[in-house]
Amino acid sequence: MSELSTKDIKFLSGVGPKKAELLKKEIDVSSFEDMIYYFPYKYIDRSKVYKISEINSTSSYIQLKGRILSMTEIGEKRKQRLSAKFTDGNDVIELIWFKGIKFIVDKYKINEEYIIFGKPSVFNGKINIAHPDIETIDEATSRQTLGGLQGLYNTTERMKNGFLNSKAIHKIVFNIFTHIGNTTIPETLPSHILQEYNLLNLKDSLINIHFPKNNELLKRAQYRLKLEELFYIQLNILRTTRIKNLRYKGFIFENIGHYFNTFYKECLPFELTDAHKRVIKEIRIDVRSGKQMNRLLQGDVGSGKTLVALMVMLIALDNDFQACIMAPTEILANQHYESISGLLSELGVSVALLTGSTKKSERAMLHENLANGELKILIGTHALLEDQVVFKNLGMVIIDEQHRFGVAQRARLWKKNIQPPHVLVMTATPIPRTLAMTLYGDLDVSVIDQLPPGRKPIQTIHRLDNKRVGVYDFIKKEIALGRQIYFVYPLIQESEKSDYQNIENGFERLKEIFPQESYKISMVHGKMKPSEKDEQMQAFASGKTQILVATTVIEVGVNVPNASVMVIESAERFGLSQLHQLRGRVGRGCDQSYCILITSPKLSNESKQRMNIMVNSNDGFEISEADLKMRGPGDLEGTQQSGIPFNLKIANLATDGQILQQARDIATKILEEDSNLDSEKNFVLNKQLNQLAKGKINWGAIS
Ligand code: ADP
Ligand code: MG
Repeated sequence: MSELSTKDIKFLSGVGPKKAELLKKEIDVSSFEDMIYYFPYKYIDRSKVYKISEINSTSSYIQLKGRILSMTEIGEKRKQRLSAKFTDGNDVIELIWFKGIKFIVDKYKINEEYIIFGKPSVFNGKINIAHPDIETIDEATSRQTLGGLQGLYNTTERMKNGFLNSKAIHKIVFNIFTHIGNTTIPETLPSHILQEYNLLNLKDSLINIHFPKNNELLKRAQYRLKLEELFYIQLNILRTTRIKNLRYKGFIFENIGHYFNTFYKECLPFELTDAHKRVIKEIRIDVRSGKQMNRLLQGDVGSGKTLVALMVMLIALDNDFQACIMAPTEILANQHYESISGLLSELGVSVALLTGSTKKSERAMLHENLANGELKILIGTHALLEDQVVFKNLGMVIIDEQHRFGVAQRARLWKKNIQPPHVLVMTATPIPRTLAMTLYGDLDVSVIDQLPPGRKPIQTIHRLDNKRVGVYDFIKKEIALGRQIYFVYPLIQESEKSDYQNIENGFERLKEIFPQESYKISMVHGKMKPSEKDEQMQAFASGKTQILVATTVIEVGVNVPNASVMVIESAERFGLSQLHQLRGRVGRGCDQSYCILITSPKLSNESKQRMNIMVNSNDGFEISEADLKMRGPGDLEGTQQSGIPFNLKIANLATDGQILQQARDIATKILEEDSNLDSEKNFVLNKQLNQLAKGKINWGAIS
């Protein structure tokens, strides 16, 4: 990169060692270059001067022109404030300071004309402006030559205490550009891309991102910088995938034979949906191609992913390979084992279960049969990853609810054969396209976008805590119809730290409302022994108990088609994806199902919004898009382990989907023409990728 990256920020006039240290510690800025890549998070329009009479309690940042009439210090020592009366000639507004009082009193003069800038707030029914920014008319005029839009920078409390507020950062960046003057900043995109997509050059983009001349130039600067940021991520992912595909051959599954065909003709419990058929076809093409398959199967809860997994494993078996499924919880592994060994009972395929609770004696047998190839399908939890688990010839790995596993864990399954097996990862937490493209950029994606026939959409209802009696009456009616009920709690025990409902008290309360003579209740939570959990789960699954109280251990995968009501206690405690997952435990049979979200009446706006989304949508993709918009990608499940830098500098995966698509298209096109990026015109790309790989960004290898 340019020499700006080697210039230490502490040598910039107005910075010095103390501030430099703060910048390093707080925002990881140490060079001139780091600083100019620290972008404003928003812009305020300072071209307009307001009148005091125009201000109301909802006003955002505003600018006034006028004079200070008086300044008064109020209050005792430690609670001292400075209050000033400011007039624009017609009206008067209060300005107020809680800190730096002496400085203000010394610096600003009564009756001199100033431009003040700040955010009005309401205190005791009156509007004031706290800690306004004050400029002399001269200062304001010189700043305005930079344009009417002023960038605001994120700063930390420590930075503010060290005289590095947003305005100070603005000034520092300005000084860097003064220092740069007319020298160019070397381009980081090749000229053919700049031309083809009509992008602003780097220097103008950087200048306008900090000091926008006007709105249009700001837009162009943002566009160029976002596109570039996303483009390099895509280029890196797509190039790595190409290299990996060259290095690893995939097993070729040519046969569709005895197992698959017999199952399809004789054992299928129901008609496959069109979506099932399409997805199986996509996978068949993959496993015949000679490439190692790395495919993500997305399908909303209840869409029938297990069946697809099973049929895909049978293809492996038809080609003399073994297959395995790894699930994130013991409950889920058990359930897969039950349903798959049930479906395969006629077919004479050997299936085994391996979890933390598998006995030692059983393990020895299992290891032996796995190594000699007699055992064809292994189902289990993380226990599958252990070194002692050695396959004779593993050809297909299925990972269920993949967002629960880290990249490293998935990679370990790869190593269970000399040549990596095909990998199908399944998720019921639909990942918005933009995120999938970044997170799993090297995975092909299949989608089951259709629910099995006969399903009725789940009705979702939001009830406040104090209306819960009605809920119990409703549940009694459902139980009388022969249905079963889930109650989910966020906590196991009462906690001093939160008011959320807990399973212990909940269980006691439910026992009173649903007395033992007429109702049976199961309970599962994470602190129980696996054997106990299993027993309780079994009782519910077999219909011996009508109510299951649980923590989120039942969030993923559990399948009891007769259950028709999901009650979620303290629903405000859960994120959207989690709520959707929990809700997916019902609606698996043909009965009308219900999800009842119980919350406290005191809800934040965000929680209200979440409840509304749940009440109004059953569509997992819609919900995950909304989740992404509300929370940002860094908080979504699965992103933390991804190794992808989600602290993007400027692009936003929630809102920049189109730019991302374009970035990917450009990267694809370039790699098609020049897969090694060694042509003259792509020189910059190679250089830039190597720089990024060396730099702070951790391009985790994803698989
Ligand atoms: P998920 O995609 O959430 O893992 P499952 O594989 O557990 O879903 O399937 C949910 C339920 O739907 C199961 O009870 C399964 O037997 C049933 N099912 C799957 N496919 C079909 C189909 N084509 N027709 C009818 N029922 C189906
Ligand atoms: Mg499942």
